Amino acid sequence: MHTLAVINQKGGVGKTTTAVNLAAALARSGARVGVIDLDPQAHATLHLGAEPKRPSATTYDLLAGDATLEQVWVTTDEGVRVAPAHIDLAAAELELAGTVGREVIMRDRLRAVTDLDYVLIDCPPSLGVLTINALTAVEDVFLPLQPHFLALHGLSKLMKTVDLVAQRLNPRLKMAGVVMCLYESGTRLASEVTTDVEFYFEQLRERGGPWRHIRLFETRIRRNIRLAEAPSHGASIFGYDAASRGAEDYRDLGGEVLAYYAGREMLAAA
Ligand code: ADP
Ligand code: MG
Repeated sequence: MHTLAVINQKGGVGKTTTAVNLAAALARSGARVGVIDLDPQAHATLHLGAEPKRPSATTYDLLAGDATLEQVWVTTDEGVRVAPAHIDLAAAELELAGTVGREVIMRDRLRAVTDLDYVLIDCPPSLGVLTINALTAVEDVFLPLQPHFLALHGLSKLMKTVDLVAQRLNPRLKMAGVVMCLYESGTRLASEVTTDVEFYFEQLRERGGPWRHIRLFETRIRRNIRLAEAPSHGASIFGYDAASRGAEDYRDLGGEVLAYYAGREMLAAA
C-alpha cells in the first residue's frame, strides 16, 4: 500500500482538488483507493459526496477517540473509500494537547488497513498536529504549488517541519513531488515561476534526507472552471465532466503517479 499526504500550509493552492481528483484518477485505473480527510473544513468529504448520512464516526473519532478506519470508511459512487471529516476535527488539536503520542495516532490507524493500494490524506492549511499526524503516517508527500511569485514564500517552515518529522518520527518520509496547480498556460509568470521552482528543488535535493528525490511532476494542472464547479456536485472531475481539461490534466497526473510507483517497485525488486 502506498500512502501519500497532500500538504501545503497555504490555503487555496489546490490540495483538496488534487487529493480528490488524483484519488479518483487512480481508482479509475483499477486501484483500490482511500482518501482520509484531515481538514476540519471537510472539503474533500463534500467534494467526494461522502458526508455520512447519519451521525457516524469521522476522522475526529480516529484521532480523539477509539474509532478504526474500518469503522469510518464511506464508499462513494465512484468507488473511492473516504474517511470523512467533520467540523469537530477543529477541536482535536486542543483536545490532543495533553495526549502522549498524539503525533502517531494516524500512523497506527493506517497500519490496520490491508485492502487498499493507495491512501491519500488531504491536509488542512496549517502545520499543526493534524498535518504532523499525516506526515508521520505516510511515505510520500505531494506538494501542490500555485505559480505565483510568492509560491515559494513560507516554504522554509514547511521544510523544517518535514525535516523534524523525518528525523524524529518517520524516517521513511519522502518529499515525492511538486504539482503545479491553477496553472495559466502561456503566461510569462507561470513559466518564470516554474523555472524558479525547478532551481529551488535542485538545491533541495542536495539537502538530502526526505528531500533527496523531490521532483516537479510534468503534468501542469491548468486553471479550469469545471474543476471549481465539481465540488458542489459531490463528484470528482471524472464524475462531473470527464471531457473537461481538468479531467484530462488529472488523468495525466494519475498516469505519472502510477509510473512513479511502478518505477519505485522495479528499483526495490532489483
Ligand atoms: P486547498 O485545498 O489548497 O485550500 P483547493 O483545492 O480547495 O485548495 O482549491 C482552492 C479553490 O480553487 C477551490 O475553490 C477549487 O475548486 C479551486 N481550484 C483548484 N484547482 C483549480 C483549477 N485547476 N482550476 C480552477 N479552479 C481550481
Ligand atoms: Mg483543502
